[in-house]
Amino acid sequence: MRHIAIVGSGPAGYYTAEAAQKTFGDDVEVDIFDMLPVPYGLIRTGVAPDHQSIKGVARRYEKTALCDNVRFVGNVAIGRDIAVEELGELYDAVVFATGAPKDRPLGIPGENLVNVIGSAAFVGWYNGHPEFAALAPDLSGSTAVVIGMGNVALDVARMLAKTPAELAGSDIVGHALAALKQSRIERIVLLGRRGAHQIMMTPKELGELAHLERAAPHVDGHDLPDPADDVILEPGLRKSVSLLRDFAATPEHIRAEKPIAIEFAFCVQPVELTGETAVREIMVERTQVIKGRAVGTGEIGRLSADLVISCIGYRTSPIPGVPFDERAGRFANDEGRILPGLYCVGWARRGPTGTIGTNRPDGQRIVELIAEDASTGALGPARKQGRAGFDLLAKARGLEVVTFRDWKRIEEAEEAAARDGAPREKFVDIAAMIRAGS
Ligand code: NAP
Repeated sequence: MRHIAIVGSGPAGYYTAEAAQKTFGDDVEVDIFDMLPVPYGLIRTGVAPDHQSIKGVARRYEKTALCDNVRFVGNVAIGRDIAVEELGELYDAVVFATGAPKDRPLGIPGENLVNVIGSAAFVGWYNGHPEFAALAPDLSGSTAVVIGMGNVALDVARMLAKTPAELAGSDIVGHALAALKQSRIERIVLLGRRGAHQIMMTPKELGELAHLERAAPHVDGHDLPDPADDVILEPGLRKSVSLLRDFAATPEHIRAEKPIAIEFAFCVQPVELTGETAVREIMVERTQVIKGRAVGTGEIGRLSADLVISCIGYRTSPIPGVPFDERAGRFANDEGRILPGLYCVGWARRGPTGTIGTNRPDGQRIVELIAEDASTGALGPARKQGRAGFDLLAKARGLEVVTFRDWKRIEEAEEAAARDGAPREKFVDIAAMIRAGS
């Protein structure tokens, strides 16, 4: 019998558990740890609340979670409640599937001003992550600047733009819905340091901007490259660029029918944020794209900004005892192997790229590595205690472990508390989650 500990219960964690089950069958026991009392990581607190069909993938993870040899161990933080070394003594393989939950810093003056917020915090706030529930962004100004031109920037812009009625069937948490109802934002500027041919937005997500009740995308056709140049683009990006062309072709009087403008500003990079205590302006430098890179031209402009949300990517949180690549912002690893017995998968391995589905082959590959290390003897003899040893340690330490059955009770309570038409009202407080589960 082999014992595997997976740290993190998001997509990468569950796909790894699923692959371990398929590969080792009854010869494996898998414990999936999460520092929160609730599972599914990014699915619960990252995916936008109005993208319920994407969140539906959790039903697949539930099938894995309900197998006898797979266990959810919630409310246990590795590196805080249990040291990595202790986990390594109990399990043959420890796999970090902890994602990339920290914002990459902008690295410019003024980024600590009030109302300059990273997307991890802002998305966590509207998705009810306990760490960010108290964020309270000030939405009383007229202009929000969203830095970055990826899908997270689109999520953020769309959430700022949607009406309460458009959010009715979502699982946005009550505090965020109430705040957005009072929002006075009427201009959302998406800031891209490169051009239209370098956006990271996928067509389905970009296309949603054309169907918002009270907001319209604004693109200046002069900012777009010659249409003949689109042939060099890969098909997905070409489709996104053709959507930008459609947005640019929409007559001004049609756009003006919608009170919120979502403006695309290409080839400008942020250089400084200014304001007394809260942000008021953002200084930007015009760029040129040279060999695919944004190069500053020295031409400086200013934009008013009452709220700034940087959506420029994420970093993995380091864990004491696990080698970390500071520059890349993820665990130091070779194709997922940190050391024999210690692995990482998903965003914790490769950084914040790809779709949820990308984590499936990633999980399979890690399990192949574990099988390889088991067969070469690198994991040592199969004599570790696994979950029985963990249970003893948890008891001795007085840990309040939340099981999958407890989670199902939390889920039931969240569903029972849902607003009309919404799937659930999430608990945003760890103590309340634990109470509901016990
Ligand atoms: P992303 O796709 O990598 O986009 C990050 C954006 O930030 C890029 O436009 C990047 O510009 C810009 N940026 C980075 N550093 C910057 C800086 N210092 N100053 C100004 N701009 C900067 O990342 P993401 O949007 O966070 O998304 C992460 C992953 O999750 C992606 O794979 C994404 O597709 C996925 N996701 C998918 C969905 C969905 O499918 N519905 C939703 C959300 C997220 P450069 O390109 O010039 O570096």
